[in-house]
Amino acid sequence: MRWVRWCAAALAGVLLTTGCTGDDRRGFRPGAPDAGDPYVPGAGNGGYDVGHYALDVRYDPGDDRLTGTATVTATATEALSRFQLDLAGLDVDRVRVDGEPAAHRHDDAELVVTPEHGLPAGRRFTVEVTYGGVPKPLPDAALGDGGFHATGDGAIALGQPESASTWYPVNDHPSDKATYDIAITVPDGLAALSNGVPKGRTSTGGRTTWRWSEGSPMASYLTMLVIGDYRVTTGTHAGRPLVTAVASALPADGPAAASVARTGEVADFLAARFGPYPFDAYGGVVVADDRIRYALETQSRPVYGPGFFTGGRPNTEVVAHELAHQWFGDSVSVARWSDIWLNEGFATYAEWLWAEHDGGRAVARTVADRYATTDWTRPTVDPGRAGMFGDAVYQRGALAVHALRRAVGDDTFFRILRGWLAQHRDGNATTADFVGYAERTAGRPLRALLDAWLVGATPPGLP
Ligand SMILES: [Zn+2]
Repeated sequence: MRWVRWCAAALAGVLLTTGCTGDDRRGFRPGAPDAGDPYVPGAGNGGYDVGHYALDVRYDPGDDRLTGTATVTATATEALSRFQLDLAGLDVDRVRVDGEPAAHRHDDAELVVTPEHGLPAGRRFTVEVTYGGVPKPLPDAALGDGGFHATGDGAIALGQPESASTWYPVNDHPSDKATYDIAITVPDGLAALSNGVPKGRTSTGGRTTWRWSEGSPMASYLTMLVIGDYRVTTGTHAGRPLVTAVASALPADGPAAASVARTGEVADFLAARFGPYPFDAYGGVVVADDRIRYALETQSRPVYGPGFFTGGRPNTEVVAHELAHQWFGDSVSVARWSDIWLNEGFATYAEWLWAEHDGGRAVARTVADRYATTDWTRPTVDPGRAGMFGDAVYQRGALAVHALRRAVGDDTFFRILRGWLAQHRDGNATTADFVGYAERTAGRPLRALLDAWLVGATPPGLP
């Protein structure tokens, strides 16, 4: 994610508490009511691992109603008497587990499902949820509202660290990645954009269904839904589909269109440094809604708010940032949000690399500037929920990446990056994993150096 302007968000965390008392007969116990990540209390769930979501949603901008069926294929990781999915602000009509009706209770943002029979550990099962209603965003005074926003011509569902539960039932934490098939039915004439490879569209009775498929595991906050009047451009790049879309309210030959038109070129620049592009499709979507004051690295197809393209000139640095996340954040995802610098530090550093390559500021100058303005009392690792999108994560995080590069030299540095990305592709990782990998690849201790740059309270020497 990248905000239009850097902002130091004030903490206004709202703790979502979920009641869940232990049962149960026959050794089946309820799955945990969240993922245990203190940055997102209530989000995610324990006791199972989702493999695939098949989403079939219909949205009508006329009455702002969304109806959907989500078929979630998961594996029980413990013996479950019941389990939970995250679903905020929508009503559940019906739940089936392995085709049989299942009891369910919808408490606030938690859908509690009690199947007819307990699920033994290791059992693969499917949950089919039929649901609908008028979707709402998740209010968050500190980080900005995430999730579903109705717009004048359609809707935008987007947001980090949480947004998915506003439009489908989900295990809403990046530690449970899954593949997706997404079908979106909208009135004829509107575009319905999402992640991954386009699988065609069909029209009947005044409505068009757009189909998308993401075959690489995807964290739920990286899913997106954009519906409205868009100029959609479909092509190929490096043998894969490239779909970009720019809101029709923005000029066809303006800076937004010119910036996303360089998506393939920027991705190739990054691939030359980070290793092969990790997904089966490329793309980008520029929305015209001023409430979206950020760009987000939604998998294979980032979404950009309009504020990045108001300067009269193209802005490819934000494109480089979001595309770098395809490697750092999307392919290799955090296991917990306190390690978000593993996403943002590298994406910010990629911006600096791209700017230098594209005739902009030299990396050394950017490093000197950021170094001079860094508040060393703010840690890069575990910055607190309110600090997730702060300078300590982005700017200081990128300085730490540069310090590593200077310490080990370019050859070893890029070998660390490529090897790290290959080793954890489609998975999750932690800061400790990264430090360990860098040390093994470089063949020397690096913990003290990285500790100083990431969490030390006094400035290390300028690299
Ligand atoms: Zn970012």
